[in-house]
Amino acid sequence: MQTDLKIYNSLTGQKEKFEPLIPKHVGMYVCGPTVYSNVHLGNVRTFISFDVIYRYLKFLGYKVRYVRNITDAGHLEDHTDEDKISKKARLEKLEPMEIVQQYTIDFHKVLELVNNLPPDIEPTATGHIIEQIETTKDILNKGYAYESNGSIYFDVIKYNNEIDKYGKLSGRNIEEMIANTRELEGQDEKRNPQDFALWKKASPQHIMRWPSPWGEGFPGWHMECTVMSTKYLGEQFDIHGGGMDLKFPHHECEIAQGKTANGVDPVKYWMHANMLTLNGKKMSKSTGNHLLPREIFSGENNLLSKAYSPVVVRFFMLQAHYRNMLDLSEDALQAAEKGYKKLMEAINVLPDLPVSSESPVDVDNLIAQFYAAMNDDFNTPVLIARIFDAVRLINSIKDGKASISQAGKEKLQKALHQFVFEVLGLHQTRNQESGAQQAFDKTIQLLIEIRNKARAEKNWALSDQIRDELAKYGIQLKDGKEGTTYSFK
Ligand code: AMP
Ligand code: ZN
Repeated sequence: MQTDLKIYNSLTGQKEKFEPLIPKHVGMYVCGPTVYSNVHLGNVRTFISFDVIYRYLKFLGYKVRYVRNITDAGHLEDHTDEDKISKKARLEKLEPMEIVQQYTIDFHKVLELVNNLPPDIEPTATGHIIEQIETTKDILNKGYAYESNGSIYFDVIKYNNEIDKYGKLSGRNIEEMIANTRELEGQDEKRNPQDFALWKKASPQHIMRWPSPWGEGFPGWHMECTVMSTKYLGEQFDIHGGGMDLKFPHHECEIAQGKTANGVDPVKYWMHANMLTLNGKKMSKSTGNHLLPREIFSGENNLLSKAYSPVVVRFFMLQAHYRNMLDLSEDALQAAEKGYKKLMEAINVLPDLPVSSESPVDVDNLIAQFYAAMNDDFNTPVLIARIFDAVRLINSIKDGKASISQAGKEKLQKALHQFVFEVLGLHQTRNQESGAQQAFDKTIQLLIEIRNKARAEKNWALSDQIRDELAKYGIQLKDGKEGTTYSFK
């Protein structure tokens, strides 16, 4: 398969021609959520970014295996030895697996609402404890890790001296890192503050624990991704993604572990999605600067004046390139809502447009630009701009100011469906509509029923009143064979 797709590789800092390790096949791993609380919109942005990448690769005809994990063990609270999930379980007096279940369900629901496709495999850290112990043993046997007080640490300096540069992904230098770290409490177990845990000994109160050759403990967070990515995609695979904030130390450690265990760089193309900000600051669970998907879809929040539907939120997210920051604001959401409506209207009107035998419009060139935008490192904002060129064209034809041939119209219709729905995933389904929209829809249906009853009783004054009053609000009732429908004027 010959495509012109270029991907920005965080490892080289360059856009590179995409050539998968096995022709026509793509292995893609994306770090999933740590399921100890509800996902916020920032998390959702990263998963939408990779959903579009997955969709486009499939659209190009690649056979993609998309693996996205669930972190249900091993992710520690910063500067502590307490697992994020254990901590939540302790605070809420629940089993850790109850926490995991609750937030995994929430995560899936939210991603379904914003129209993400599920990954092909969704492995969990707790489902791969044996593999994590095996890889830890392997690195230990090769001499690049050491045991200290029941925990196993990776020897970063030895790796850096003998295998590869530690810091090559994030552009850091080990000497500078050493110079800049102050000794933190509890780090005396390590030979060097940069060393990271492959396996941690569980303190007596630590509830999430498994037996190992080194006593009861739990795996280090970086280890799960090394093990699950290579188990399902091979020692080397094509694409590894995650949010920008995972580049260091998480992904840097994955490279070091993978290269030490298997002798090869695990990933060909590293991809990092940029952050969603709120009031100019990164959305984050720990600082409280965040908005939950539910809050935005229902309108129950103190930041925005109304509810926005999941598809509008998705459209808003795709108006920025995945490598750029994006700030959430009312203005931007309103513009997205208006733009989305305009786009859907144009797509709906397209089949009914008149055609002419002579048409100067170069539809092929317009469609080629859709591909060009996505082939340029999945540039969704440029794709959307080109799609709006098509919207303008459709509206000109509708107004009799331009013309299109039958063949051109069919091609454009097909391409718009492919790029808007298949690639960008911008279709609206009933269960995606926000609560407010559903209530609105039901209210209009109720008025239609009352009007039908009035008509059956020949109460023309009432039936006209309903139609005319709704028209004043821009809502047009249309009586057809299938009953009465409504649209916006
Ligand atoms: P976590 O559950 O914290 O491990 O995060 C899940 C994913 O969301 C990771 O890939 C993070 O990099 C990403 N993420 C966290 N905060 C944001 C944000 N504000 N904008 C975009 N992605 C984020
Ligand atoms: Zn990961």
